[in-house]
Amino acid sequence: MKIVQNVIILGSGCAGNTAAVYTARAGLRPLVIEGHEPGGQLSITTEVENFPGFPEGILGPELVENMKKQAARFGAEYKWGSVLEADLSKRPFRLNIDGEWEETRTLIIATGASARWLGLPNEQRLIGRGVSSCATCDGAFYKGRKIMVVGGGDSAMEEANFLTRFGSEVCLVHRRDAFRASKIMLDRARANPKIKFLLNTTVEDVYDTSKNLVTGVKLRDVQTGRTWDQEVDGFFLAIGHIPNTKAFAGQIELDEDGYIISTGGARTSVTGVFHAGDVQDRVYRQAITAAGAGCKAAIEAERFLESEGH
Ligand code: NAP
Repeated sequence: MKIVQNVIILGSGCAGNTAAVYTARAGLRPLVIEGHEPGGQLSITTEVENFPGFPEGILGPELVENMKKQAARFGAEYKWGSVLEADLSKRPFRLNIDGEWEETRTLIIATGASARWLGLPNEQRLIGRGVSSCATCDGAFYKGRKIMVVGGGDSAMEEANFLTRFGSEVCLVHRRDAFRASKIMLDRARANPKIKFLLNTTVEDVYDTSKNLVTGVKLRDVQTGRTWDQEVDGFFLAIGHIPNTKAFAGQIELDEDGYIISTGGARTSVTGVFHAGDVQDRVYRQAITAAGAGCKAAIEAERFLESEGH
């Protein structure tokens, strides 16, 4: 007979690990399900310079590993796996973790958001072979090469700027001529002589699967309909993220893009289920805000359990 957990935390990024530190210190022995991207966004970042407490900065993977060790020291248990299915219709909640069912009195969803892809015919086949969604992870592979970045938000501007450290040229492709990016980020990219803007342009395909390597892309001018091929070595997507909430569709309230709708504090539409981090936050999305959200979710879970007499 399986035990009923006090708290299961889904996700082991900044939000999940902070929730684990707090619930573990409260003596709740949380079970953390690491998810399909253990460590979350920090694990694919290099230097983190804006997390308070580290005047010289810290490597993302090191920061997240430290959090995990801290939580484990107070009794948090970590388990590899992802949630495939959830039954949140009654308590204890039931979760199918890679085929094995777990039961829990409270649930903290800290599953984050994953990079969005364009859905081009050859895109997925060339991931890691020139196609990337992480400039900080892969930029250094393109020293002196031709780089393309797709997107018109802050991420695209930031990545394009960052990639000029490596590439011989960086071409920024955006489907409109208006930007979501903040003025300061856009101005910085515009002032960078290595960045060339290609506006009102979409990417139709990426080549060349026969070589198992990115060699170029097919582009389309959305105003004239003209299409042409352009040589590219590194193809970086910066077109936003998709929240990892598929397993909860129809069970808790999500917005039209799949982000969890908060009902105040860290609460969701289901009593006893709490949210933390990018799975609910489409605005700030920082390591420190995710950590703060993990803390809030933990405190709410603890108070909820106490109010139920556990
Ligand atoms: P975003 O603001 O949602 O921008 C996504 C961009 O990708 C938009 O320009 C969008 O075009 C484009 N796009 C989406 N789907 C596309 C598709 N299928 N084909 C072509 N283009 C597509 O996402 P983000 O840039 O990742 O930023 C997310 C949040 O993080 C924002 O709040 C941002 O301010 C923040 N952020 C901040 C910093 C910083 O301050 N240092 C850095 C990075 C991110 P449309 O505009 O046409 O929809």
